[in-house]
Amino acid sequence: MIKSLTGLFVLICCHVYAQQEITEQELKQHIEYLTSDDLKGRYPGTPENDSIVNYLVEDFKSHGIQTLIQEFPAVMRKDSSSVTTWNVLGFLEGKDPLLKEEVVILGAHYDHLGTKGDHIYNGADDNASGTAALLEIAEKLKANEHLLQRSVIFIAFGAEEQGLLGSKFFVGNPIVPIKNIVLMLNMDMLGHLNEQKHVYMGGAGTFPGGVELMKNLGERLQLNPIVHAGSVGGSDHVSFYQKEISVLGLHTGGHEHYHQPTDTIEQLNIPGIVLTSNYIYQTLMEITSSDRKMEFIKQD
Ligand SMILES: [Zn+2]
Repeated sequence: MIKSLTGLFVLICCHVYAQQEITEQELKQHIEYLTSDDLKGRYPGTPENDSIVNYLVEDFKSHGIQTLIQEFPAVMRKDSSSVTTWNVLGFLEGKDPLLKEEVVILGAHYDHLGTKGDHIYNGADDNASGTAALLEIAEKLKANEHLLQRSVIFIAFGAEEQGLLGSKFFVGNPIVPIKNIVLMLNMDMLGHLNEQKHVYMGGAGTFPGGVELMKNLGERLQLNPIVHAGSVGGSDHVSFYQKEISVLGLHTGGHEHYHQPTDTIEQLNIPGIVLTSNYIYQTLMEITSSDRKMEFIKQD
């Protein structure tokens, strides 16, 4: 009897364990979906964009994460046409009666450039990589949510390529009081980790001890973080910084395929995305599972 109970326990333990880990296989499945030619470059206002929104909602829901979509109008850069698109949000509530009012946001934009002539812009690095990381980190945080004291909101932003439109809409229409957001961590292009394992980030000086924290956590995972206190630019975290919210914008560096039809899954370093995702997971855990002091520090 004892023997069979032990056997059962091991089975339960290992099944849950597998769900918690961020794996190459799961990241790759998300990226294969997001970069498939059928989705025609993830352009706002298209039926393909609607399918992606459904995919993201279903993935959050399948892991038991409370989900919300936020509709907003977007004006396209190319032809000034106005379309409807969405941010997809997931929510995990913190366990501490007071600290749960404080929110950390993890974001990544899911849209890309669409098509031009015969070319499909699949945007594997920009930003299928960050979107896949968002889903996997969310799953891992959900599996460890008993450790969360602060709350977490995951946001897959729409229409970033059209001028940070999804994040601008969110900060104008936040679902929690904006002063309760203690950090916004943004992921845009995580797919090209180089041999030196450089992970680049801006904004680490916008919260107390941020630079030191990011260096220490990176080194623990054998990464080489290139940590800038300021240099807040380039993606959706800018919308939050402008509202005086602490931010961290992470990426693995630019390359020749940036905004080209050649930004495809074949070019990605998927084990590198696993490493970088675990780094970001650790960062979120450090901030959400403690009463670490958080406040906005302006950078030049
Ligand atoms: Zn991007």
